[in-house]
Amino acid sequence: MSAKVYRVNMNDLSVTTEEFPARWQGLGGRGLTSTVVAEEVVPTCHPLGKHNRLIFAPGLLTGTPAANSGRMSIGAKSPLTGTIKESNVGGVAGQLFARMGIRALIIEGEPPGEAFYHLHIGKDGIKIRVESELVGQGNFAAIEALQARMGRQVGVISIGPAGEMKLAAANISVCDPEGKVRSFGRGGLGAVMGAKRIKAITLDAAEAPPVTLAKPEQFKEASKVFSKALLGHPVSGEGLPNYGTNVLVNVINEAGGLPTRNFRQGQSTGHDNFSGEAMHATITARGGKPRHGCMPGCIIQCSQVFPDQDGEYLTSGFEYETIWGFGAHSGVEDLDHIARADRLMDDIGVDSIETAVAVGVAMEGGAIAYGDGAAAVDLVSEIRSGSPLGRIIGNGAASVGRAYGLTRVPVVKGQAIPAYDPRAIKGIGITYCTTPMGADHTAGYAVASNIMGIGGLVPPLEKEGQIELSRTLQMVTAAVDSTGLCLFVAMALSDDPLALPAMVDLLNARYGEELTPDDVVMLGRRILLTEHEFNMAAGFTNKDDRLPEFFSESLPPHNAVWDFSGEEIDEFWNF
Ligand code: SF4
Repeated sequence: MSAKVYRVNMNDLSVTTEEFPARWQGLGGRGLTSTVVAEEVVPTCHPLGKHNRLIFAPGLLTGTPAANSGRMSIGAKSPLTGTIKESNVGGVAGQLFARMGIRALIIEGEPPGEAFYHLHIGKDGIKIRVESELVGQGNFAAIEALQARMGRQVGVISIGPAGEMKLAAANISVCDPEGKVRSFGRGGLGAVMGAKRIKAITLDAAEAPPVTLAKPEQFKEASKVFSKALLGHPVSGEGLPNYGTNVLVNVINEAGGLPTRNFRQGQSTGHDNFSGEAMHATITARGGKPRHGCMPGCIIQCSQVFPDQDGEYLTSGFEYETIWGFGAHSGVEDLDHIARADRLMDDIGVDSIETAVAVGVAMEGGAIAYGDGAAAVDLVSEIRSGSPLGRIIGNGAASVGRAYGLTRVPVVKGQAIPAYDPRAIKGIGITYCTTPMGADHTAGYAVASNIMGIGGLVPPLEKEGQIELSRTLQMVTAAVDSTGLCLFVAMALSDDPLALPAMVDLLNARYGEELTPDDVVMLGRRILLTEHEFNMAAGFTNKDDRLPEFFSESLPPHNAVWDFSGEEIDEFWNF
């Protein structure tokens, strides 16, 4: 099946199909979404206006049998940060795109009127229909209704009420193999989909052939080496499968970098109540699944199915950063309250990091008491109602800070700082400052090196080596985000000398190329620079690459401070 690009113009509800252009060869996932945004979106445009574009692109290996390779990226100008934005997800949608030969779906314009639309992508191309039944529904109900209407085989991409309201923390959901919700989480791109008035996209690849491989035998051999490297690494082979990402609560608490009570301390006295170990015990006792894949072909399986007290499904993909945001950051120690909030956020369609941090900032402002789990769940529910307070929360942590006149607001470029204190883990602080995405730990996960020594220890409390570490990681991450591989393959890429050559062999066997590991790193470099240039053209300067002032306060237990000067941070871009 030849590779193609679909363009949907919502101004007049038209669809065009293009051959995948030569200038985009070698690009997929983040590399492709960021390139299209840089080429086609006016950097100074309003993110919710007709000049912004929303781009979906499966990764270069998505749809192949390679382990952990099924992810898809979206890109646009972010309503939360005003920067270029890429977010990626598991679930089934990316693999369905790839099987149908769709390298990119580019959504442009905005329709006249108030109607919402449903796009269906199948063997006859794209059909656009007015959607009225699902408007106002949450993501769980939307997936259920669309699969009942179109068949259980369809993949669903949808927005919840937050996206319909165009709130800046709105995410985009994708169904997983069990019909549950996974999310393109960060940066508010659900609001862009809402501005284009698209409630849902369904995908039916029932008659599509498997993805073709240029060199099937070479692919099979590389695939074996790659899988072995993933399963042989202590983090991707043991820690993540056993305890999920929430294995990090105790690890980061021990390191003194678990931001507690809105970044006042680096350790939480209640960590045992919401740790990965506590979560594992709760899931096991209730008959849930402590180990689960968010997409077909995942062999690491860091996800889980978390049931309620009656053993009924409550949530899955219950991540460390979300649990930290309600747990240590907001002082809520009851895992069931946090799980209910997680379920609500998936259903309403808001980023669970942005929203959790926003709830903690609302506690700082006195909206509810620190540690009140029931009130925190109610506050999240307010977003669905569209009340003034709900909209303030649903527009993210910076919005709450402005509404309550606060200076202690943990954001960079308008996006909430996640679960690692940059004073105690300085490499991740450099990533928060410099990534073109706004504060985002996944953009260059220096925690792995600073705390776990993965790829070589760079001591977390020292400044030396952090700029170089973050820069290298950000380049490699931009490349990995282009492959469709889950970022958790990066542990093996850093520590197992066979893993990176195997990943490059997979790309070469898929496309019949002769890439080297250096080519892949250079791809990451090019993506990073493209994104940075977009932000500069949008009006950002190096003065935006800074942490909030309050990080000059010392953080117990190490009494660490953020002590990088502006000039030192600016060195990041000298490459
Ligand atoms: S390791 Fe976790 S995030 Fe990655 S694909 Fe598997 S379940 Fe999804």
